[in-house]
Amino acid sequence: MENFKVPYGLDSSGILISASNAEKHKAYTCPCCNSQLVHRSGEVRVKHFAHPTSLNCSQESILHITAKKLIEAVMLSNSSSQTKINLSSHCHQCGVKFNAVLPYKTFTSARQEVPVSEYVCDVVGYRNNEIALGVEILNTHEVDSKKASNLPIHWLELKAEDVIATPNQWNPTQSKLKSSFCKSCKEHIKHVQSIADKWNIERNLYSPIKNPKLSVYVADTETCFNCKEEIPVFWWRGVPFCEQEPPEPKPKTIKFRNSKQYGGKYWANTCASCNMTQGDNYLYIFESSPFKNMPLTGKAANQKAGITRVISGKSAAPEFMKVINRNF
Ligand SMILES: [Zn+2]
Ligand SMILES: [Zn+2]
Ligand SMILES: [Zn+2]
Repeated sequence: MENFKVPYGLDSSGILISASNAEKHKAYTCPCCNSQLVHRSGEVRVKHFAHPTSLNCSQESILHITAKKLIEAVMLSNSSSQTKINLSSHCHQCGVKFNAVLPYKTFTSARQEVPVSEYVCDVVGYRNNEIALGVEILNTHEVDSKKASNLPIHWLELKAEDVIATPNQWNPTQSKLKSSFCKSCKEHIKHVQSIADKWNIERNLYSPIKNPKLSVYVADTETCFNCKEEIPVFWWRGVPFCEQEPPEPKPKTIKFRNSKQYGGKYWANTCASCNMTQGDNYLYIFESSPFKNMPLTGKAANQKAGITRVISGKSAAPEFMKVINRNF
């Protein structure tokens, strides 16, 4: 008869105890069906629980129930300042992977099987009576795409076997979480804000995060080619060589300027210090541009004409090919 893998048993007070921490003379039961477990140690180095043959229990149920209880226990332990939780995350600015640490008291309580709108979440962590996070355990079925997009809370999905191996190291298989940033992007975001502050550009006019969904204007910084001051510069939908007036309210350094090289007028970033126009090719198109990965939304023909006219010099041909590859 097939034996179930039982990584954790319940002690007499209903607390999960791993097989390796179990004491020889105490009794433990299956977290799923309550059958008495046999604690095997003896000569075999790896201790484990043996489960009696049963029709009322299954390997899937044991792993699912165990993982749920472990997550609830980790959240409760976090609420009483005993466990910090590591959440493997990726930076929403640059995509780099990093480990975020959820500090003590990220959660103030936790519960299993909580109804959330039309769904039930495996485990929910609360912070001051509000749902802070839902955790779904992936065992045999992943969270389907409908639930994934309709769950009205922050949530993540964890593999049952990962939870059982290390309950406080969370490596989500899918998630909907607040945007998080790596250390260097966090610093860069602060730096952009400080430069914009220095030149009196109000923070509500732009986003320092390079995501076109967050704001009409996205900010970064650039060193003015003329006066060498570090100045704020902006991306918006319509660049490069945007001839239509950009939406209001706009940063005051965006001005309608004539350009001989371009052969007409367009809305350009200007230096907050010396008022000089900062070329669109340097801001948006070249490989070293602060906004090189942001979408270019100007009229293709207009862009193409503008770019061929504006780019000159040794690097013109390769730069032009990059632009062609990016846009067409
Ligand atoms: Zn069982
Ligand atoms: Zn980053
Ligand atoms: Zn300047």
